[in-house]
Amino acid sequence: MIFENLLLSPISKQPPVGLTLASTIRELFLDRFQVEISCPSVEVLNEFQQFPLRPGVILTIAGEFAGMISRERFWQYMSRPYSLELFSGRSIQNLYEFLRVDIMQLDGNTSIVEAARYSLQRSPELMTEPIVVILAPQDYRLLDFHQLLVAQTQILQLTTQLLQESSQKLEIANLELQRLAALDGLTGIANRRGFDNYLLQMLQQSRRSQLPLSLLLADVDFFKPYNDYYGHLSGDHCLVQVATTLQNSIQGSGNLVARYGGEEFGIILPNCERNAAVKIAETICNNIRDLQIPHHRSQVSDRVTLSLGGISMIPKEGDTPQTLIQAADRALYEAKQTGRDRCIFQPI
Ligand code: GH3
Ligand code: MG
Ligand code: MG
Repeated sequence: MIFENLLLSPISKQPPVGLTLASTIRELFLDRFQVEISCPSVEVLNEFQQFPLRPGVILTIAGEFAGMISRERFWQYMSRPYSLELFSGRSIQNLYEFLRVDIMQLDGNTSIVEAARYSLQRSPELMTEPIVVILAPQDYRLLDFHQLLVAQTQILQLTTQLLQESSQKLEIANLELQRLAALDGLTGIANRRGFDNYLLQMLQQSRRSQLPLSLLLADVDFFKPYNDYYGHLSGDHCLVQVATTLQNSIQGSGNLVARYGGEEFGIILPNCERNAAVKIAETICNNIRDLQIPHHRSQVSDRVTLSLGGISMIPKEGDTPQTLIQAADRALYEAKQTGRDRCIFQPI
């Protein structure tokens, strides 16, 4: 007879901590109660009486696996009238002939999740039978079904937790992606998509609050000749400098600078009335001039300059972002027509 783990019942043992989806059944508590098939039944009976929670007994012939009787089946049979008298004197083989059922044998490297699935797929009367685990040739153990279920539940809980964690991470990554999708790759300020979204939001807010909303459209003067003369890379560098300067010129919270297109920028100024917006536009023009980026091909200055068109309004019902953009664009056109390097505000 081979006994192991005599002192603790398998059911009283908790599955080891840190089980994962990849954990195998050999990591679980496995019971070892093994007898040669010729062993007298009474010895098995004594062992089950002494250790009532053993999942079952493994039967061998010359050390090779020959069968298994679960504790449950053993007691079910032994509690019948006369069974005890009939079998206790005979070998366990006799009893096995009566109690024989399909036995599930699994390699010790089977994953816990897989083993639980196999178990649960068995017919209801066999589902709770212990599983024979083969650790090595002639090394057999029994895995209690309840042990397996507890371990599987632990793994499922962990997996759910991991899923929750990764979905949180995904959400953060998505938000970051959304933020990046609204940024311009060259200048790092908001792009057209960011501009459109924000303008719509601010328009609705302004309509509700009845506080004025201002919009500036800015366009680099003679930028095509700049590119032609200094090259596209210098043109890019110039745009980055302009964007940074615009950003630094509007410090108020809620203000947004965006690259509207090529060398055009949009500046959204919520809760900003006309006079304040005019001041900001003038500051912007000055700050761009103060950058002193040489521009030999400009017809209005020796350096890079900006033209701006602006509009301030409290939007009425039916006004759309397009209403503001068109008005600011008309003012910008006028700024270009009247000599560039200036800011024109659209009359309301
Ligand atoms: P105006 O004073 O009337 O605005 O004249 P302009 O030359 O600035 O106007 P136009 O619209 O003819 O030219 C805009 C130029 O901006 C043309 C294009 O090559 C340049 N541009 C647009 N996007 C970029 C960019 O990302 N990088 C560079 N380097 N140039 C750009
Ligand atoms: Mg332009
Ligand atoms: Mg231009």
